[in-house]
Parts: sequence; structure tokens; C-alpha cells
Amino acid sequence: MQLVVLGCVTPYPAPGQPCSGYLVSDGDTHIVLDCGSGTFAALQDHLPPAEVTALWISHLHPDHSADLLAWSNWALNTPDAPRITVYGPPGWAQRLNHMLTGTLDTTLVDSIFDAYELRDHHTAVHGSLTLTTRAVEHSVPGFGVRVEGSNTCLAYSGDTEPCDAITDLARDADLFLCEAGAAVPGRHHTTPYQAEQTAITAGVHHLLLTHLALALDATAVARSPAIPTTIATPGQRWPSTQNRDRPDRASHTAANSIT
Ligand SMILES: [Zn+2]
Repeated sequence: MQLVVLGCVTPYPAPGQPCSGYLVSDGDTHIVLDCGSGTFAALQDHLPPAEVTALWISHLHPDHSADLLAWSNWALNTPDAPRITVYGPPGWAQRLNHMLTGTLDTTLVDSIFDAYELRDHHTAVHGSLTLTTRAVEHSVPGFGVRVEGSNTCLAYSGDTEPCDAITDLARDADLFLCEAGAAVPGRHHTTPYQAEQTAITAGVHHLLLTHLALALDATAVARSPAIPTTIATPGQRWPSTQNRDRPDRASHTAANSIT
């Protein structure tokens, strides 16, 4: 299994800096976790959209879902575009359909995607990847996910304050992709320190901090991590090479490549 960071900034994209989007691949199975602003273009640096198996959307804030519009326009304007499975929060298809057509049914969305709504404990299998979804604590209905491959597993927080569901998803994960959208503890988001505490409690092997709050200094966040920690950057891969074995939990790093 390999992860490519398509984008990781919030709350709006910048040149070369899309919002949240993560490509998870295992053989011919390719799943995109979140498609925030700018991620559809970034994806095409790595993979033709037609090769994507499924999209999984954590919640409907635009830094995680805005490029559903780009995916729709691609599907509508690409002859023989494959029907891509999309998992999203309740109501996602109606909202997207409304933005595309002004109507609240799902006729257009259903014509281009296989649409499913997420719920707590939802599971889905695509090829060798199994996705387990848990409801998390955000300002709108939101979800985190655990992706298990044949011999590795990663967890992604979506946007959430620390909660038991995230700890459960991250249990013994090889990689914990956790948001750090809060500079100080509060509701709806996680601080880098809280992400680290969750990672320690869950026994994860490597923490990849993403979605850093604007007020945070990325170079300072992972300066003295208690567990191996990396700050996400666009284009970053995990493992850092195709043939790499499981990440080394003994070495601590704050460099840009995940080692
Ligand atoms: Zn966000």
C-alpha cells in the first residue's frame, strides 16, 4: 500500500498547495481520501482519474470536498469515463447535484457516480483494501477512516477533535494521518500535541501531521516528537519508495520525506 499526499493545506488552496486529498494505492486499486480544492489537478500528476477506483469524503467543508465539482465535470466531459464509487457524508449527493443543476434530487450525480452515504462503522472493500469508517467529532457530520491492505494499514482522521473513534481507527496503524488544524486545544480540531497523544495511545508506528492550522509553524511542530513524526507536504509519498518495508518506528524524523 502506498500513500501520496495530493494536498494538505487549509482552509484555502495556494499555488502548488491544494487542500486535503490523499491517494492510497495497492496494486490496481486506487482510492482518493478527500478531494479538497486543487486536488483533482494534483492527482493528474500521479494517476489518470479514470484509474481511480473510489473517492471517500470525510465531510462537506470545501477544503475536503470542493473538487467533487471538478470530478463531476471530468466525468460529464470524458467519453466512456468509468463510474467511480463515491462514499460521502449523508446528503453529499443532493448537495453536489444542487450545485451542478440547481435541483435537490440526485439524478445527475447518479448518472456519473455510484453514490453511497457513510455511517459509523461503515465498511467497504475494494481489491485488497478494506475501508472502515467511524463518525468523528467536527462542526458538521464528519468521519475518519482506517484503510487496511494486505500487510500494512493507515488511519486518516478527517477533521475532528480528539475522540475515542479516532483512537480506535488508529490502533497499531503503520501510519496515522492526523489533522492538526488547531493551534490551541478547542472544539472541532486537533492540535499537534493532541495528535501525538492520540498516536501514542493508539500505538501507531508513524504520525503524519496534515491540515496544519495557519497559526502553526510547521518547522517547530515536529521538532522533538515522542514518536516518529512528519509534516505532510504535497507530493509526499509513504513509504518513501515503492519497495520499502514497514516504517522504522525507532527513528524519529521531522524531514519532508517519510522514512
Ligand atoms: Zn478541513
